[in-house]
Amino acid sequence: MRRFATERRVFFWEEVILCDHPLPYLEYHSFPADNVIALRPRLPHWWDDEARQTALRELLDTLVATSVPGKPILWFYTPMMLGFAGHVKAHAVVYDCMDELSAFRFADPQLAAQEASLMKRADVVFTGGYSLYEAKRGSHAAIHPFPSAVDTLHFAAARGNVIEPADQACIAGPRLGFYGVIDERIDLGLINALARARPDWHIVMIGPIVKIDPVDLPRHPNIHWLGSRDYADLPAYLSGWNVALMPFAINDATRFISPTKTPEYLAAGRPVVSTPIVDVQRHYGAVQGVAIADATDAFVAACEAALALPVDGAWRDETDALLTATSWDMTFDGMKAQMAAVSVKPAVPTLVVANDYDTSPVVHPVGRRPDYDVLVVGAGFAGAVLAERLAAGSDKRVLVIDRRPHVAGNTYDHRDAAGILVHRYGPHIFHTNSDDVFAYLSRFTQWRPYEHRVLASVGAKLVPMPINRTTLNRLYDLNLQDEAAAAAFLAARAEPRALHTSEDVVVAAIGQELYETFFRGYTRKQWGLDPSQLDKSVTARVPTRTSTDDRYFLDKHQAMPLHGYTAMFEAMLDHPNITVQTGTDYRDVDVRAAHTVFTGPVDEYFDRRFGALPYRSLRFEHQTHDYATFQPVATVNYPDEQTPYTRITEYKHLTGQQHARTSITYEYPQEDGDPYYPIPRDENQALYRRYKALADTLPDVSFVGRLATYKYYNMDQVVGQALATYRRLAIKLGQESVA
Ligand code: FAD
Ligand code: UDP
Repeated sequence: MRRFATERRVFFWEEVILCDHPLPYLEYHSFPADNVIALRPRLPHWWDDEARQTALRELLDTLVATSVPGKPILWFYTPMMLGFAGHVKAHAVVYDCMDELSAFRFADPQLAAQEASLMKRADVVFTGGYSLYEAKRGSHAAIHPFPSAVDTLHFAAARGNVIEPADQACIAGPRLGFYGVIDERIDLGLINALARARPDWHIVMIGPIVKIDPVDLPRHPNIHWLGSRDYADLPAYLSGWNVALMPFAINDATRFISPTKTPEYLAAGRPVVSTPIVDVQRHYGAVQGVAIADATDAFVAACEAALALPVDGAWRDETDALLTATSWDMTFDGMKAQMAAVSVKPAVPTLVVANDYDTSPVVHPVGRRPDYDVLVVGAGFAGAVLAERLAAGSDKRVLVIDRRPHVAGNTYDHRDAAGILVHRYGPHIFHTNSDDVFAYLSRFTQWRPYEHRVLASVGAKLVPMPINRTTLNRLYDLNLQDEAAAAAFLAARAEPRALHTSEDVVVAAIGQELYETFFRGYTRKQWGLDPSQLDKSVTARVPTRTSTDDRYFLDKHQAMPLHGYTAMFEAMLDHPNITVQTGTDYRDVDVRAAHTVFTGPVDEYFDRRFGALPYRSLRFEHQTHDYATFQPVATVNYPDEQTPYTRITEYKHLTGQQHARTSITYEYPQEDGDPYYPIPRDENQALYRRYKALADTLPDVSFVGRLATYKYYNMDQVVGQALATYRRLAIKLGQESVA
């Protein structure tokens, strides 16, 4: 892929991921600084090619209809995307041919025919190197070679004092490194022979292993397969290498390659040893810093010679001089000039269509511009319930957008790297007294019975929270035998007073000392305010008990969705009338719908015209440990003010998952960041009322949920609020029947 900045927005369409989700959807990853949005289509793995192509085409149509003003430029990196993208009315079509993909292992037999079609459709063609240009130049009138350039500054960082990543720092030297895709183009025999020939050298291999069975990789103590690393981290790895390798096999798949890593390695100041790749030889064969060697012995000898090169020798001046003739800016200017020459004025957003996806192309009639009855902003509980009800109960066509790359809002759960089901935004425990809410959600999930228990860490003791008789007995080494005894104990400490603030409710019930032990520090950390500055409803959520009931909640229904929240949301949103588009901000869409349901922060909707409503945020620190159990219950609270976090949660208690390892989350409250909690206090309510008055003047917008109605609601309350909103909306939208 090419790397250059652009003033226009680029949508980068990535390879399809086939997964268990029942809905096709686009996962969005936004890189605002580069004006790039990466789109990852996700499709159910059990669909056949035709269904996949249709879904891709519909996802693309939705994207173009909602996010691209005017006609896009289609920029193809592979002909295989022509099947579902070819019908899009484009300002121009560019084919940027980076490889001879048809020579790759498992290449689709249709590729050559698809390329011929793309050559016909393209206004201009670029190739990633000269060999490729020579091979293709007969196929198009406007074809131009653009070998890969390099972001010299980025890679030159490797020449300075960078901290080497821990997984490499522990590897002995000298180190010979490679990064890039590890597939059939890599000469594994050569790596094996090199490692055996010089057991004192260490070979560092970075990159995803693709189309190769990992058992076929040579394994020696001096070969280190580290896996993929981010582009941003490559200079740090390069800084620790003595020699950079290009151990390519010489075969059909490498005949036309023009590896980007050659100039990158050199910009990082590393000498390079390569097998005889035509374009490497052509451009770099003459400089001392790049050695070309084929047979194993020659390759070992070339590495030996490269290791002997002085770090800052004259060879570097020679390669640096070569690098001044290449930059992404020059590539950009060159391409722009060639596009202008075929009269493409790049005045509109660019749509980049990239990467290979090898299903057979299917020809479809041109799609209709999608339009919707209702736009739902936010795919959390508020948005998903309304979308489901409007689609299934009122036959409305609904577009659901969310600026996060997933559905389920704050309740989003997923399997982490260890395969443990975790909650990305902190622990979510479902509990409700409402039969209606529970019955409604039960349409979309089975449940795992679960009663939440919390311990508070006080000094060296772990005691039940909310405070109960056991808490008092353990804390004060007492033996209070019944409720009356516990009540008398508390009454002797309680300091009755008028109940206005969060301090009042607690001190009035249990007195100053217990208040300070369990509530003051926790609340100050959690809210950044003293309990005396918060509405009484906040701490009233956690009442004190005289019984020994140690459940956190006493609700009638207490359970966790059997397969997790995300799975439940996917079932809710799995309806033919519902389209889901994640990674999409409300401000960036241009959808006309008769009604909008807004579930984001209400002040944001109105551009904070009366000032920002305060929300409290959290930082989550997720960890996985190599043992099965971290703590005795799901959540341990740390109420003292000195400990910077409020609580630690261990997910396996919530989910019942059996696993040899365990994942936990620390919660660190903070002022900035995602808005998680409306802050209940009078002045904030007064400000909210001003926004509410404004919201009430918009009959075509419903504000629903925790952020949009500025209410410290639990999940079940949001579901209840959304169901009530639906009942009103169904009548307004002309649907009397409410399922
Ligand atoms: P959200 O889940 O916040 O959904 C709103 C969605 O709108 C978000 O996904 C957001 O990305 C999207 N959005 C906002 N603005 C825009 C925009 N401009 N464009 C596009 N999308 C936008 N409740 C319980 O019942 N039990 C618990 O144990 C529990 N634990 C919690 C723990 C934590 C740490 C937190 C923060 C909350 C907890 N809650 C719990 C509360 C629960 O998370 C909420 O009640 C519920 O998730 C609110 O749903 P919602 O749809 O109103 O909001
Ligand atoms: N709280 C506290 N100590 C605790 C638990 C809770 O002081 O050990 C206070 C704190 O102000 C917290 C509020 O009670 O914000 C509500 O707690 P809850 O567990 O209901 O909060 P949630 O995490 O569910 O929002």
